Amino acid sequence: MDVDASIAAGGAGPLAGMLVAVKDNFCVAGHDTGCASRILEGFRAQYDATVVRRILDAGAILVGRTNMDEFAMGSSNENSAYGPVLHPLDATRVPGGSSGGSAVAVAAGIVHAALGSDTGGSVRQPASFTGIVGFKPTYGRLSRYGLVAFASSLDTVGFFAAGMEDAARMYAVMAGHDPLDATSAPRAVEDPLPPLSRGVAGLRIGIPEEYVPGSLDPEIRAALDRAAEAFRAGGASVRRVSLPHAKYTIPVYTIIAMAEASSNLSRYDGVRYGHRAAGGVMAATRSEGFGPEVKRRVMLGTYALSAGYYDAYYRKAQRVRRLISEDFTRAFEDVDVLLTLTAPGTAFSLGEKIDDPLQMYLSDTFTASANLAGIPGVSVPAGTDARGLPIGVQLLARHFDEGGLFAAGAFLEAARR
Ligand code: GLN
Repeated sequence: MDVDASIAAGGAGPLAGMLVAVKDNFCVAGHDTGCASRILEGFRAQYDATVVRRILDAGAILVGRTNMDEFAMGSSNENSAYGPVLHPLDATRVPGGSSGGSAVAVAAGIVHAALGSDTGGSVRQPASFTGIVGFKPTYGRLSRYGLVAFASSLDTVGFFAAGMEDAARMYAVMAGHDPLDATSAPRAVEDPLPPLSRGVAGLRIGIPEEYVPGSLDPEIRAALDRAAEAFRAGGASVRRVSLPHAKYTIPVYTIIAMAEASSNLSRYDGVRYGHRAAGGVMAATRSEGFGPEVKRRVMLGTYALSAGYYDAYYRKAQRVRRLISEDFTRAFEDVDVLLTLTAPGTAFSLGEKIDDPLQMYLSDTFTASANLAGIPGVSVPAGTDARGLPIGVQLLARHFDEGGLFAAGAFLEAARR
């Protein structure tokens, strides 16, 4: 009613009436922020995250917070103190993670859009598993003020929508400098709406050969080939490129993400936020409050940062991160957009990987490199497998070329209709 009145009066914001869900790691003033962790039990946010404030000011209606992997650590949404999120098409499968709740809220048609966070693929991978659009902007493009930190050199705000146009509308409202976030880029934002109808004529697209291993399931691979064919038909050129350090993505991501997480999570000491064990002892609070995956990462991360091991692990990982990043810089001299699969498979079964952390971490093989390099990426629906489960392809672009992703993504979306 209020929205109708504001539209009639001509004063409606660009997101007027849009229903939006928010991942449980964003602050919304007066509401609980729990990161799906026991340790934040009872914590209530005092202020709005900047992106939350901006979508509210634009007329969006927040309908609730969504389940996630604890502190955004996971690829299946099974690491949650609230219990797992189920896939909307098959309740025996996972929706991906860590922003699984947000992905499902959009995929199931409960909301028009949802906020997530993407540190290694947590928006793109669940978008791929659930058949929707998942967008991760350039590092520094969207303010992280009010987003609970996981791994600060990798964390970005991301978002889900059923299609590219809604995604562009969300982005247009949220992007732009925020003085409250020191990592926020003071740089003008390109309007994402015109690129939606730009097409791909003359666009140079590269497929990194390291992202198409021989072991890839042929069904999944066929989706990549179809996307490449659609781009060619639209007037783009498609060629093979090489990102020679791609094989180090997961080891480097894992060390850096765990090291930074161990430092960021040291603030949960039972004194300042949420849960406190009886007697208030810090070790007991953390033992009770954190789940197994968070504990594993805090321990491994602390180890990687400790005197004597710092050079061998963290510093070495930072050096290789530079090489991975330079691979992208070089590739983007010859092409404008990179095309890959978003994930090496479709939605897997509940419990299938939970006892095998390495297999779980490999879900992010194609996504985590964008976080290491800080470049923008989007997962776009690209068909289904024989079981009817969605497959997503990922598009990556140069720093701050979100426009290129909106153009290529919208083209692909239209080509499938
Ligand atoms: N799945 C990855 C991890 O477990 C990425 C998580 C994320 O992007 N938040 O770390």
